[in-house]
Amino acid sequence: MDTRNTNTPSGSTSAPQGAPHHVMVIDPNRCVGCWTCAVACKEINNEPLGFWWNRILTTGPNQSTASAPPASDNIDVPRGVYPDVEMAYLPVACQHCNDAPCVKVCPVGATFRRDDGTILVDYERCIGCRYCMAACPYGVRIFNWGDTEYAPGGVVGYGQDYRSDGRLVFTPERPVGVVEKCTFCVERIDVGEQPFCCEACPVGARVFGDLNDPESEVSQLVNAGGAEQLHPELGTDPNVYYVPIRKRPVVQG
Ligand code: SF4
Ligand code: SF4
Repeated sequence: MDTRNTNTPSGSTSAPQGAPHHVMVIDPNRCVGCWTCAVACKEINNEPLGFWWNRILTTGPNQSTASAPPASDNIDVPRGVYPDVEMAYLPVACQHCNDAPCVKVCPVGATFRRDDGTILVDYERCIGCRYCMAACPYGVRIFNWGDTEYAPGGVVGYGQDYRSDGRLVFTPERPVGVVEKCTFCVERIDVGEQPFCCEACPVGARVFGDLNDPESEVSQLVNAGGAEQLHPELGTDPNVYYVPIRKRPVVQG
């Protein structure tokens, strides 16, 4: 299925004219599975122990494309049959869907979509019903069940509340009973910076930018590079894209 650039400026899910349409493009061919992005995400967002907004999955046996993703517990599983096995990595966090099931089911409007395509959770409005967790087909939301425990050192990373249009979309010490997930580092992108995972990746496997700008790197990767959405058949229309995995030829010894 051709999944390229379903978010054109003329589309119903695009940003208002002149406004950015933020997307992230991940290249699994570059990813070396180092988890730097995941650790950077934990640090900047002061994620409690046991929380991972961003995980690096492996494609596992017989899973060779971004549109055929692994099970969510598929970590450190090579693909292929011994001795012709290789590791292929697939970083997965919130896909910031334009047609987001989590937004549709939230009974109190706590989960919402901004005009730039970013999906956020209003911590003050969330009632912890977890409908969004059941609705999300990517399994990327986390519920804060009890008193959170942090690594020694207390609050790290972005150490203050952040509001978008008056709504509390980040707070360093998250309250119990609230669902959380990747925010595209909203406090950073709103001042023109990259999400911290993109800045931290040592091999440039993560790119963030404006899909409405035809000159941007993300536009090139989506429109000319054929970057794909994860599970496009679900109709969620994510704002995270993946460069198609190129299989390396097997050299017969
Ligand atoms: Fe892959 Fe880059 Fe994340 Fe490392 S930091 S796991 S290379 S995407
Ligand atoms: Fe919502 Fe899940 Fe899509 Fe993120 S990936 S926008 S949590 S449905």
